[in-house]
Order: sequence, then C-alpha cells, then structure tokens
Amino acid sequence: MLSFDPEKVSLPAGHYIGGQHCQSQGAAFEVKRPSDGSVYATLQDATPQDVDRAVTVAHQALKTSGWSGCPPRERGRVLRRWADLIEQDTLLAQLEALGSTRPISDVVLHEIPFTAEAIRFYAECADKFSGDLFPTRDSSLGMLIAEPYGVIAAITPWNFPLSMASWKCGPALAAGNAVVLKPSELTPFSTVRMAELAIQAGLPAGVLNIVQGSGAVTGSALVTHPLVRKVSFTGSTVTGKRIMSDAAQHGMKPVTLELGGKSPQLVFDDAGDLEVLAQRILRGFTANGGQACVAGTRLIVQRNIADPLVERLAQLCRELKPGVTWQEESRYAPLIDERQGNKVCSVIAAAKAQGAEVLVGGERFAHTGDGWFWQPTLLSHVAQDNPAVQQEIFGPVLTVQTFDDEEQGLAMAAHDTYGLCAGVHTLSLPRAMRAMRAIDAGTVWINRYGRSGDFIIPTGGFLGSGIGKDLGRQAFQACQRQKSVLIDF
Ligand code: NDP
Repeated sequence: MLSFDPEKVSLPAGHYIGGQHCQSQGAAFEVKRPSDGSVYATLQDATPQDVDRAVTVAHQALKTSGWSGCPPRERGRVLRRWADLIEQDTLLAQLEALGSTRPISDVVLHEIPFTAEAIRFYAECADKFSGDLFPTRDSSLGMLIAEPYGVIAAITPWNFPLSMASWKCGPALAAGNAVVLKPSELTPFSTVRMAELAIQAGLPAGVLNIVQGSGAVTGSALVTHPLVRKVSFTGSTVTGKRIMSDAAQHGMKPVTLELGGKSPQLVFDDAGDLEVLAQRILRGFTANGGQACVAGTRLIVQRNIADPLVERLAQLCRELKPGVTWQEESRYAPLIDERQGNKVCSVIAAAKAQGAEVLVGGERFAHTGDGWFWQPTLLSHVAQDNPAVQQEIFGPVLTVQTFDDEEQGLAMAAHDTYGLCAGVHTLSLPRAMRAMRAIDAGTVWINRYGRSGDFIIPTGGFLGSGIGKDLGRQAFQACQRQKSVLIDF
C-alpha cells in the first residue's frame, strides 16, 4: 500500500550543514503542497553568512576527511551503500510525493530507482577513469592528472528534486569533490533526507551540505562564494544566463548548465502504428504535468495522418484524471503552484489571441481545491511565431502543426531559442538519419520519446538549452580539472 497520510509525514529541519540540521535567521518562506496548495512548513532563507558556513565546512571537510584523497574505489563503496539506502527509505519517497508534483506510485516506480541507479553509475565511474600519458622524449614524461575541483555548488529546480540532485551529487562526489546543494525553495525536503542517508552510508559529515532558500539570496551567495570552484545548475534559461555571468565575475568558475527546452515531435506518415504513436506523444507532453525540460510539446505531423492521430490523442487526453500525489492510484501530476498555473493560462490566452484553436483542454480541472491540475491541452492553427510554439510553457500543452514534405517538417522542427531534444518518428532509416543530422538539439530520440535508464548516455542542450552534459562519463569528467605535468629525469 503506497498511499499515505500527508499530515503524518515527519519533515526534516531546514538546512543540513556538516551533518547537522540547523536553522537560520534569514527571511521566512512558506512551503506548499502542490496537490492542494496548503502550507505544510515554513523555512528560512540561508543568508550569505549561512552559505559561507556551509561552503567553509565543505572545504574543511575535504581537508580533514580524506574524501578527495582516499582510494576512488572506497568512494564507490560509499556511493553504492547510499544508493541502497535511498531505495529502502519510505520517508524519502513520501517526502518527494508530498512536496513535489510526482504521484507516489510514480516516485516509487521511477524517481527513486532512477535516483539510486544514477548514483550507482557514478560509484562505478569513481575508479574507471584516470589521466593520460604523452609521448615526449626519452628523458622526460608528460602526464595529464585529473583532480577534484574542491567545493562544487549544485542548484536544482523543483520538477524532479531527487533525480536532479543525484545527477549533480553523484558525479561530483564520485570524483572526490564536496557539494553544497541548493534545491528549489518550492521542494526543499527530500534532498535533506537524501543527504542524511548519505551520511548514514559513510560519507564524511560536511562533504554534502544542503542550504535552503531563494535563488536571489541563497543561490546567488553560493554561486559567488570564493571557495566554490564550479557550478552545476539545472533550471530556466533566464537563470542560467545570470549564473554564467555571476560565475564569470566571481572567480571564472566553470559551469554546467542544463536549461529549458521546446522540443519537437516530428511524425512522418511512415511512422507505423498510430495507437503506439498517440500513446508515445501523450506521455511525451503530459508526464509530470508537462513540467519536464525534455517535454515534447510541439507535434509536427505529416498532413495525411494528422487527423486520425490528433483525434486519438484528444481521446487519450480526455481520459487523464487528476488525483492528489499521496494516493496510490493517482497518475496525473498537478502544476507546482499558482504562479505556474497563471503562466500556463497566460501563454494559452496569448496563443488564442494569435489564432490558436483549443482542440481539447485549455483549462484548469474543476473541483481540485487549491491544487493546480491543468487539463491536457491540444492547440491547433498555430503559426511558427505563435507564443505557444515559441515559449517554454512548462505545462501539459501540445501545439499541433502539419507539414507536407520532409524539408518543410524539418524547418518547422527548428527553434530559434532552444535545442534540448527532439523526437523523430519514421520507420525509414535514411529519413531518420537525415533528420537526426539536421536537427540542432543535444538529444534526438528516434521512434521513442524519453530517456532510458542507461545513465551512460549523457544529456545536455544546444543553443539556449545549456552548456555541458549531465549523466554519462562526461558529467563525471566535468567534475575533475585536468593538470598537465612534464617531468625531466
Ligand atoms: P529557475 O531557473 O527559476 O530555478 C532553478 C534553481 O535556480 C532554483 O533552485 C532557483 O531558486 C535557483 N535560482 C534562481 N535564481 C538564481 C540566482 N540568481 N542564482 C542562483 N540560483 C538561482 O527554474 P525552475 O525551478 O522554475 O525550473 C524550471 C526550469 O528548469 C524550466 O525552464 C526547465 O526547462 C528547467 N529544467 C531543465 C532541465 C534540463 O535538464 N535541461 C531539467 C529540469 C528543469 P528558487 O526557485 O528557489 O528561488
């Protein structure tokens, strides 16, 4: 039985620094349950002084604990134990379902195993990658040595709090760094529990710390702190630009930026079974209520199959029903809060003002109290410059555009701002390969939409969707700096 009573979940205290829970004197902020909008906790922003303490503790912990200098396989052992504890912990799953938009069954079936597996992947990386040796001359030796950076700042969004934290902390810790993580102030608690479990697994206290608070106060103090040597961020493109600029001004820190997207689903008339396609496209734009950077929110379909495909999609949309995230049978996620609801509303209004037609949905579900459950929405009659085609909505809204030939379809799939991912649906291999080459995106999925559980495949955007990669060995190597050494003997 996965259902639980939201009133009975015991919440960890706010910040977690040096293996201790601590309070702060910063400005208070309320934390609300997305499912019903009710306030369930009040926390304080970590002030710049609190952030300084967290970063200093992390810096000291690296010196005193031996974490960066221990045999890498020992780091791997700790991370594997951590992954096991994450999978076994009921409280962690409940905190995630209570505070985020993910229904409990989704958390238990997907979010928790994905989080644990990502950490296991980096446990494996810990002793698998080393430096390099270079041909020089008989009397000298050239080497490249990989070293941890020191303290890495990780800043994550609200849409997948646990897995985003694992994507940042897994590679950083495996590579011998310490981490100070700031989760979104909208979803603060599950990462604190995750950090408690890391200490139980044997991570030295102070090597992973959590600070709560707003981006403007806490996040900014973290990015600009002189002892932070690298910043790994996932969030919006607007914030990513700000962080890149702050990181450049304050120590020329390297940044990994995983940012927004507006990804196309390009469907050719030779893509196969329409039922399979409709189900795939539905999941691509409604999973987590459309609040996924990779959501496939632009359907671009060849004209001769558009009507039956869209008709079936509309039927499937009508079958999705809202339900609070602590009930086992709930499958459909609410929007995170009212502000996000207003954003979805305003983009749909702007789209309609420019000619868009609502085929299905277009409104908040009735009778869901103060929770913001948005009806899956299909918008047709959208030109390429329509706001619903151009802007990342971060809600379950799919635009529908039709094309006649490959060239026209590929032109519609291109986007001026974003290049995160794309789905190409065709059973013609040459056509799939041509589309894959032509599309300006960091990930192209062919005849599927969404990641697999293979963490060896990295992810990251082009254009305004980001810089660098999360996941894969690339993310591990990006948590190390390379030192060149030349020895004469
Ligand atoms: P935001 O960019 O608003 O916030 C992301 C994080 O950055 C939050 O923790 C936020 O704090 C913090 N932050 C805000 N301003 C600053 C600052 N000046 N300095 C340091 N930190 C700051 O994104 P959302 O939380 O609204 O998340 C949604 C966005 O994330 C979408 O655009 C989505 O596409 C993107 N995303 C990208 C993914 C990818 O892999 N490419 C994956 C998931 C989401 P706070 O909000 O607490 O104030």
